[in-house]
Amino acid sequence: MDIASVIVDVPAKQTDREFDYRIPEKWKQVIMPGMRVIVPFGPRMVQGFVIRLKDESEFSKLRYIKEPMDLEPILNDELLQLGNWLTKEAMCFKISALQAMLPAAMKAKYEKVIHVIEDRKDRLPPIIQPFFARNASLSWKEVIDGEHASLFQKELQNRNLELVYNVKNRLNKKTVRVIQSLLSIDELKAMASGLSAQAKKQQELLQYFMEHQELIPLKELLEVTHASSSTVKSLVSKGALAELDQEIYRDPYENRVFEPSNPFTLTDEQAAALKPIQEKIHLDEHDVFLLYGVTGSGKTEVYLQAIASVIEKGEEAIMLVPEISLTPQTVKRFKERFGEQVAVMHSGLSVGEKYDEWRKIHRKEVKVVVGARSAVFAPFENLGLIIIDEEHESSYKQEETPRYHARDVAIERAKSYRCPVILGSATPTLESFARAKKNVYKLLTLSRRMNEKALPAVDIVDMREELRTGNRSMFSELLFSKLKDRLERGQQTVLMLNKRGHSSFVMCRSCGLVINCPNCDISLTYHRFNDIMKCHYCGFEEGMPPVCPECESEHIRFFGTGTQKVEEELAKILPEARVIRMDVDTTSKKGSHERLLNAFGEGKADILLGTQMIAKGLDFPNITLVGVLSADTMLHLPDFRSSEKTFQLLTQVSGRAGRHQLPGEVVIQTYTPEHYSIELSALQDYEAFYEREMDLRRKSHYPPYFYVVLITVSHEDLMKAVSVTEKITHYLGSRLNRDSIILGPVASPISRINNRYRYQCLIKYKREPDLNRHLRTLLEHYQKETAQNHLQITIDLNPQIMM
Ligand code: ADP
Ligand code: ZN
Ligand code: ZN
Repeated sequence: MDIASVIVDVPAKQTDREFDYRIPEKWKQVIMPGMRVIVPFGPRMVQGFVIRLKDESEFSKLRYIKEPMDLEPILNDELLQLGNWLTKEAMCFKISALQAMLPAAMKAKYEKVIHVIEDRKDRLPPIIQPFFARNASLSWKEVIDGEHASLFQKELQNRNLELVYNVKNRLNKKTVRVIQSLLSIDELKAMASGLSAQAKKQQELLQYFMEHQELIPLKELLEVTHASSSTVKSLVSKGALAELDQEIYRDPYENRVFEPSNPFTLTDEQAAALKPIQEKIHLDEHDVFLLYGVTGSGKTEVYLQAIASVIEKGEEAIMLVPEISLTPQTVKRFKERFGEQVAVMHSGLSVGEKYDEWRKIHRKEVKVVVGARSAVFAPFENLGLIIIDEEHESSYKQEETPRYHARDVAIERAKSYRCPVILGSATPTLESFARAKKNVYKLLTLSRRMNEKALPAVDIVDMREELRTGNRSMFSELLFSKLKDRLERGQQTVLMLNKRGHSSFVMCRSCGLVINCPNCDISLTYHRFNDIMKCHYCGFEEGMPPVCPECESEHIRFFGTGTQKVEEELAKILPEARVIRMDVDTTSKKGSHERLLNAFGEGKADILLGTQMIAKGLDFPNITLVGVLSADTMLHLPDFRSSEKTFQLLTQVSGRAGRHQLPGEVVIQTYTPEHYSIELSALQDYEAFYEREMDLRRKSHYPPYFYVVLITVSHEDLMKAVSVTEKITHYLGSRLNRDSIILGPVASPISRINNRYRYQCLIKYKREPDLNRHLRTLLEHYQKETAQNHLQITIDLNPQIMM
């Protein structure tokens, strides 16, 4: 077959289809579907994915593929198919869907260069000839930044120069220098006897290779023989040894030893949960299970044993864990059970490390991948199981193109491999629990904690009361006394500051001015560390003003309770307490997250203070108190899921206490103690919460009763943003069913980001078989304007973030 159909890397409406290319003779046996190639496209060279091979094309004048980028397919047939599904599901271009499945390292970058066409250097005008004195090519930047751009342009037209798109493949495989002996033992002996007596080091090296035949890394060789690298070099030049670069994997866990662990004997509940899963595994049947069990009820052990069955069958498993609970503790449990058969993928790894893990999967060297969202695309070919732990986490939804939800991708892949999916959570999403109740998903319940300990006792403290009785501190009397008590007993406390939707802003006490970002309608966040104010949306930053820019009062300061402020307060009221603070500022460096947690686990601090990120995956025996400083900050966000998210977070963080022998206690401080999401999380009563919240969702026409689509329009010109949103609303209004609801156009909750005004409309519907088509028509209609980036239209199907 001489023709390849290629999806080119030009994300646009007109190019969102396959293009046919002829395969050059020399690549005929090489190029296969699922490989990337470089192809000419218009005047330039672009990257593309080979989708299929064929003998004939309906087009007669075909251009040739320039060269392959891979020597083996990087996407298998199933993933190519999945690309079609994803394109529809996420309403994106096919190329975006395909790219999303690759590890970051493979998403090539282009480097534009200007190149002299062979033998034509003499024809160039004298002014630009010197540019090519040393090299045949010149970077694009040098050309356009210089003063002779038009001259270059003319020579391009004269075809003396050409524009080349070099695809930079930043794979940078990591290699290690190794040394190999090229001679037999007898030859080595002969050479050694021929050397002068002074060449002692060379003698020793030859001696080493007489005793060891295998390759050895240069570094090691120098260590064991105490030779220098110049000694090695001289033997290389004599033809006795060879130096090679051997590719190695960057193993992020290379210096760690994992003690093998054995499966536990399951409790009756665990066994009852595992059985139907194993049945599906053995029958090669697809199904979706919802494993509903409080924290510490032994869900992970069920996952581990289900995976063991899959491996035994010769198949593979994907284990998804939210980024933030992908802690070393979590990884350890999988490595201990499955050893070298586990690959790990999360954002804490460098691009190169991620690529190495990906290759282990691709080359079938591992059977299990434990990873965050994008690991759902792991290029396995015999999938036997996909598990999504903490399925309620909103991070499973990708918030940029393609906007996919890992749960949907998992189910789609599991269908084509006819294998089960397990969704696990102590606080499932309403959508999933409703499906389980209707038996669309099979409900499996673990109702008891492993240690048979009651869930921790929870106290709710009304902070308005505290204020009334004259306590102006951010710690209630109750929380303070319990903190002191733990300190005396040498037990540990976790303090969570619920930071979402609430951060330290700068306000003038005299006139009330709050300092906002000049580009976005949002207040700047104060960072004590370097005394600056920062915008979390556009990155704008500036120093703290000495006086109020409005009234020139000196009483301008930052408000709100950032973790730093809590830390200072702790130092005042409990000076003897050792505190570890975990937030974006202290964990931005690679590995710092892990270091801080380890330190806490080793008892190097009494209090772990942090944001949401400490709510998950912590499992230390000495934690007996959990304090939540501000439970309700999230409740007031303009999001129909705010109660659900509050309930989930409070339940999660409460589960951190008393997981082992010592009983745990929880103190939740709030200004709205009567809110059902707070009351019911204190009782750890998921099902009561579910009933309450479902009732509200039904009355207000929100998921799971209705589907939701959020359309956000942004433009530098406010009137344009408004009018486009109006037109979209009108267009859909006249086409959708009468029982569908369109809210809008209204300004988005964050009405301006980066100087672009944002307007939105929200569609709620039960059944709209043509909605996808209508939305595509809309996107096509505005294609010209959006391509030039003046206008932005984002369509979020089933949005997780309503801002
Ligand atoms: P979850 O994933 O639901 O939070 P885990 O699987 O982490 O719960 O289990 C909680 C604790 O109980 C862990 O320390 C785990 O090692 C232990 N455990 C789980 N299953 C068993 C079992 N069948 N027998 C003994 N210990 C178990
Ligand atoms: Zn002022
Ligand atoms: Zn901003």
